[in-house]
Amino acid sequence: AKNKGRNGFCFFMPSMQEASQNRMLMLTHLHLAIQRQEFVVFYQPIIDLQSGAIYKAEALIRWQHPSQGLVSPADFIPIAEEHGLIHEIGQWVFHQVVDQFKDWQAQYQTHLQISVNVSPLQFQGLDNFVEEWLLYLQTAGIAPDNIIIEITEGVLLEANTKAMEKLFAFADNDMQIAIDDFGTGYSSLSYLTKFDIHFLKIDKSFVNNLTPESNDLTLIKAIIILAHQLGLKVIAEGVETELQRDLLQQMGCDFAQGYLYSKPLSAAEFTHFL
Ligand code: C2E
Ligand code: CA
Ligand code: CA
Ligand code: CA
Repeated sequence: AKNKGRNGFCFFMPSMQEASQNRMLMLTHLHLAIQRQEFVVFYQPIIDLQSGAIYKAEALIRWQHPSQGLVSPADFIPIAEEHGLIHEIGQWVFHQVVDQFKDWQAQYQTHLQISVNVSPLQFQGLDNFVEEWLLYLQTAGIAPDNIIIEITEGVLLEANTKAMEKLFAFADNDMQIAIDDFGTGYSSLSYLTKFDIHFLKIDKSFVNNLTPESNDLTLIKAIIILAHQLGLKVIAEGVETELQRDLLQQMGCDFAQGYLYSKPLSAAEFTHFL
């Protein structure tokens, strides 16, 4: 039993009793999905709030299950992480993005930056995926600063030596780093000056309830001032209304992403923006 939910995604977990059974089932299906290449990468435009231009996009994985329909990454990424499949999936996403980028660059000579979500577990693994990624970029002839790596605050706070090495390797090689879901996880801010970070992404939970009188407005305003003082740019996610956009623009937010502009699009659909 599954229902079509938000965004037309299917939910594998209709009830508590079925949940663990469904997780087992999904794990089996995930192994097959990797073999059968059932994943696809979508691209959500990121708008420059000052100029209105679009030259950034976030890559978001989707799973096109042959019989179950489109499965949300929020449902299968945690299971992939739990069972060690995230490394393979993460690598597949990155290769896919680079291949796509190469095509777009050849066809449109466009000035584009694509951001890729990287799981904290990929930083904890023993394999040196950063070297492999850099080599993949080099072989494709794409400059590393065309790629933004999206990580959550936890990666920086719980960073062990191996994770630190990986982060510094990204930064030393000119890949850009964005802190995803900023403000939702931790209270420490000291990491902001220890690492070479380019973007803060304001979580959509803050943008959701944004009105002229809301506490979230004060919070977002403070985040923007902090970021700019540190030389970072701010991306607001989950922008759905013109009011939210106007308020963000007034506060000097640099970039916005959300259904107001566009939902995540297939690569073919995204080319309309190029
Ligand atoms: P995220 O990185 O925070 O991505 C933003 C999510 O917000 C996306 O959900 C996007 O479709 C959704 N979104 C965008 N605009 C709006 C809006 O205006 N309103 C609302 N309500 N939602 C909006 P999605 O694509 O379902 O992805 C969910 C999460 O799955 C992502 O959250 C990310 O944590 C994870 N994910 C997606 N792709 C990957 C991937 O390639 N690798 C890894 N490790 N995680 C991924
Ligand atoms: Ca993200
Ligand atoms: Ca986010
Ligand atoms: Ca998130």
